[in-house]
Amino acid sequence: MSTPDSTLPTDAQPTFRDLGLPAPLQSAVDDLGFTTPSPIQAEAVPALLAGRDITGVAQTGTGKTAAFGLPLLAALDADADVSRGHVQALVLAPTRELAMQVAEAVESFATHLPGVQVLPVYGGAPYQPQQRALRDGVHVVVGTPGRVMDHLDRGALHLDTVKFLVLDEADEMLRMGFAEDVETIFGQAPAERQVALFSATMPPAIRQVADTHLTDPVQIAVSRQSSTVTTVEQTYAVVPFRHKVGSLVRVLATSDADATIVFTRTRAAAEEVGVALVERGVSAATISGDVAQKEREKIVERLRSGALDVLVATDVAARGLDVDRIGLVVNFDLPREAEAYVHRIGRTGRAGRTGKALSFVTPHERGKLKHIERTIRTRLVEAEIPSPRDVSAHRARTILSTVPTRLEAGRLDLYTQLLTEHLTPGEDGTTPDPTQVAAALLALAVGDDGPQHLAAQAEHEKERAEVKGGRTRETKRAERSDRDGDRTRRHPRADRDGDRPRGIRRAAEGTRYRVAVGHAHGAQPRGIVGALTNEGGLRGADIGKIDIFGSFSLVDITKPLDDAAMNKIGRANVAGRQLRIAPDKGAPQARAPRSERRPAHTA
Ligand code: AMP
Repeated sequence: MSTPDSTLPTDAQPTFRDLGLPAPLQSAVDDLGFTTPSPIQAEAVPALLAGRDITGVAQTGTGKTAAFGLPLLAALDADADVSRGHVQALVLAPTRELAMQVAEAVESFATHLPGVQVLPVYGGAPYQPQQRALRDGVHVVVGTPGRVMDHLDRGALHLDTVKFLVLDEADEMLRMGFAEDVETIFGQAPAERQVALFSATMPPAIRQVADTHLTDPVQIAVSRQSSTVTTVEQTYAVVPFRHKVGSLVRVLATSDADATIVFTRTRAAAEEVGVALVERGVSAATISGDVAQKEREKIVERLRSGALDVLVATDVAARGLDVDRIGLVVNFDLPREAEAYVHRIGRTGRAGRTGKALSFVTPHERGKLKHIERTIRTRLVEAEIPSPRDVSAHRARTILSTVPTRLEAGRLDLYTQLLTEHLTPGEDGTTPDPTQVAAALLALAVGDDGPQHLAAQAEHEKERAEVKGGRTRETKRAERSDRDGDRTRRHPRADRDGDRPRGIRRAAEGTRYRVAVGHAHGAQPRGIVGALTNEGGLRGADIGKIDIFGSFSLVDITKPLDDAAMNKIGRANVAGRQLRIAPDKGAPQARAPRSERRPAHTA
């Protein structure tokens, strides 16, 4: 694959086997698929194994966690008594997220060291379980300085047996005001401990910490050339398959990106997602590998000019796409290959701008995510999917931000007069509260009708709680069988969680039906209306909106159709094909159309 940065291993570097790791750690490295150490690992591991202190100027993505994590585990004495908080190694990290990530990585390096316990400690989590774990005995604590201090103060943690101390992202830690805590922690550790200090930068304050607390450190610096990957903020969210479309709509509704590309794995999925977005009022177009070149160019031009903001695409279709406006890439489906991931996220962060990438990961795809992270040498940060409430707040803030301009424009007398009338005391003598009235107007403006919105929010919270608890319907199913999730997945449009933007209803009038003819067959609204009226005995007035897609069309019909009518219409021919009409349940009847085009609106 193309190399995202200069810190990747090169042929000239040694292999991990040359570094002299103890056998159980070498086995863990093998399990993780690391063959060649990164530059920081090649320098730091031998130095630390030899008992030296080190300072490492290195950022995330350089492999620094293994650079200190492996030697740290090599320094442990598995037979020593570590109970009652007498830990042997302490890693300080500035944030809860980093502490969790580092603890997880160190644990993965310790898989062949039975009995070695690693405990993350950070604020915001209850004390008791952490205290209990410390009392029972852990070898390695990875924590934020604040929570480590709390445990020290409570006597739950003791540093007198610490052999190995790591400061990760030291500059960040000082920036966050932890200098004093770091000093105290150093003061409580024995003098003969080994120290590894990592920092993205080496300002004088960090130098001073190193001068004071490290002994003749080996100084290592690895540069990370700026690359596409570094200008893109990469995140992921665990989203059960059936919630993907709803999540995508909310992500788009709260995104500040000028334009977005949504990637799916297959052409059929691209069209389905495109259709689902349009149904929910998002102006989106779909391109896939076999869309005609002319049409592709037109769509890309609309994206470039700002006439279009969301493009759904497959990997093949998006190849070479170069549009500066793209501020967000959503991986609706994780790509099969890490290489495709790099290409996808390279569609944003162009022309010196920063971009964002968000990958949806179904609960049983976490392993796939780890594989991508390992290959691209970057950890993705977990992001929260916006809730319906977040969407309303975002819309409301956007509206409120335009209020001053609207006030400035004047000509508000009509509304002022109506409001004044509304705010005069009623017959019962009560006057509506102006703030409440303004709040209701805002709620109406963002499409929050109250009860339905509450239900959507509750559903969202339930779903997130399931994901957090790791027990979604999908993980349960995955636990039962090792089947590929894609084969068991439901159609994305089955996810209808009530966050359809205001004014867009599933069927604006009556019931929405699906007919098996689309653009690919040359279907025209005229032909569909003709078949419905001639064969189905419907009147023009019974037929509402008609949306024509690549391989099928959706038609709103106000008059209820019984089985006999559906049979009759279903056998009718349009563009040389039977209509095969059926109520639209979201599942496509005709799969993988040859032509995947942007849906044409034909009312
Ligand atoms: P870090 O800079 O420690 O956050 O590591 C970034 C990513 O690179 C993590 O996903 C590691 O698992 C992965 N990684 C670290 N060292 C290597 C290596 N030698 N070979 C392949 N992947 C690695």
